Amino acid sequence: MITELARLEVRDPAGVFAARQLARGLAASLALDRQDQIRVATALSEISRSAVTAGRSAVIAFGVDDRDLLVTVTLDGEPPAEGVAAASRLMDQVAADGNLIRMAKRRPPDVRPDMKLVNEQLAAVLPPSALEELQRQNQDLISALEDLKQQKEQLVLLNSELQETNRGVMALYSELSNELEQTNRGVVALYAELDETSERLRAASESKDRFWTNVSHELRTPLNSIIGLTRLLAEPGPDGRLDPERLYQVELIRNSGSTLLALVNDLLDVAKAESGRLHVDPAQVDLPALFGRLRGLAHPMAEGKRVAVTVSDDGAPDTILTDEVLLTSILRNLLSNGIKYTDGGEVRLSARVAGPRVEISVADTGIGIPAGLHAHVFEEFYQVPGIRRGGTGLGLPYARRLARILGGDLQLTSEPGAGTTVVLSLPNQPPALGTVVIADDDAAFRQVLKGLLTGMADRLLEAEDGGQALAVLAENPVDLVLADLRMPGLDGAALLARLPASVPAIIITGADTPPPPRAAALLKKDELTRERLEFTIRGIIRSSS
Ligand code: ADP
Repeated sequence: MITELARLEVRDPAGVFAARQLARGLAASLALDRQDQIRVATALSEISRSAVTAGRSAVIAFGVDDRDLLVTVTLDGEPPAEGVAAASRLMDQVAADGNLIRMAKRRPPDVRPDMKLVNEQLAAVLPPSALEELQRQNQDLISALEDLKQQKEQLVLLNSELQETNRGVMALYSELSNELEQTNRGVVALYAELDETSERLRAASESKDRFWTNVSHELRTPLNSIIGLTRLLAEPGPDGRLDPERLYQVELIRNSGSTLLALVNDLLDVAKAESGRLHVDPAQVDLPALFGRLRGLAHPMAEGKRVAVTVSDDGAPDTILTDEVLLTSILRNLLSNGIKYTDGGEVRLSARVAGPRVEISVADTGIGIPAGLHAHVFEEFYQVPGIRRGGTGLGLPYARRLARILGGDLQLTSEPGAGTTVVLSLPNQPPALGTVVIADDDAAFRQVLKGLLTGMADRLLEAEDGGQALAVLAENPVDLVLADLRMPGLDGAALLARLPASVPAIIITGADTPPPPRAAALLKKDELTRERLEFTIRGIIRSSS
């Protein structure tokens, strides 16, 4: 249903302005937005203007139906094409039918026009001089609206492009996130595998340890029982002694048992040294006392042989920084060989200071070793062909391994028929260091380290953290860095990672942790002694020089 709101006749420029005013007022009172108000006003203004310019008059009727603001323009002649064209850009619908132009503009629903306002607007009159101005304004407005429309179209285009781009980005993102997810899954699986492998390795190393502990126990126990029982059998009992034949057999069993026990012990020693499970406990060892104990050990070995065993501490230093158990083991082995391979003459252990080292020699006047075989006797299980005196061929290689663990070595000289000399040389002087950097945030502990290092280093430089240590290193040639693992700022591990490869570093830590990758050694604060520190530094300097 159409309701008419207002009607207006336009004959002159004043009418044109009135039509414009009225159209705008009606559009406003029907709650069209500002842009649409201008569109409607401009459409009416253009149609009226072009009609008036063409010398025609027009009757304009404004009305509403349920949906639209409706405008009917009845002209007394052909509708002006220019005006219709302008209007059709501005209204939703424009239809020219003979002298009639019908136009419609969508309006917000449920808004009743304010009739008082409409009437007031109808009464308004425009001064005629404003016609040209109005025309210009209308043109401006049309082109402004046209621009707006173009901009809007561009915006729509841009928007759709943006949407397209967004879709592309979304696709890319989902592809990437798929890839990331897959990579993550791979990494997780890899870590699981690594965990599994390290767990297996740990279990393997544990079971190896368990194996050696069990084997040591299982092999030694029955052998010790056999040897003990044969000793009992050989002793006179309540029924007197065994008859000589039986006694002889029991002695044979006992000898075989002892040989077997020696073999087992050798094997276990070598296995232990090989697996790195040897515990090294460096301390100042009293050499004369150690030599005294060796003397006690050696004499029974030579029992029944025409061999004089001499252990002399003339020329030996009073103490040497080393591991006493390992040193004893080496020398016991050398003495045992000397006695075993000497039928008559002397086996002599002596020591001397040779520059920065101590040399302990075991010289015998025994059968000697052919020249080509001097290197071979240090190979595991090697025995000089044609010579059978018991043993396993493990003594010398084991002794050399221990010597190297202690920072020393074994050298052998020998001449068949004249005898053999094996020299153990061990480091004897504190390492001589130029400059050492101590990096620890704990001033008291730095003090402790300074104390421990006196006599080893010419110059001690302190740093409170990794950063300071690097600054010190940038300005001074440094021979060694001692660094705490936990420091504020740059910690020990980070410091090591930035350290020049030529500078060795020892990590000193209170924590129970494996050494970081670049550390030459790790020492625990609560186990730190001057001996341990010196021994460790000696090892590092030897391996880096
Ligand atoms: P073994 O248990 O056989 O003594 P070692 O590893 O101690 O094993 O020595 C290897 C071999 O070197 C010996 O079997 C022996 O032939 C030779 N050998 C070692 N020490 C001497 C020595 N002092 N005099 C002569 N030969 C020696």
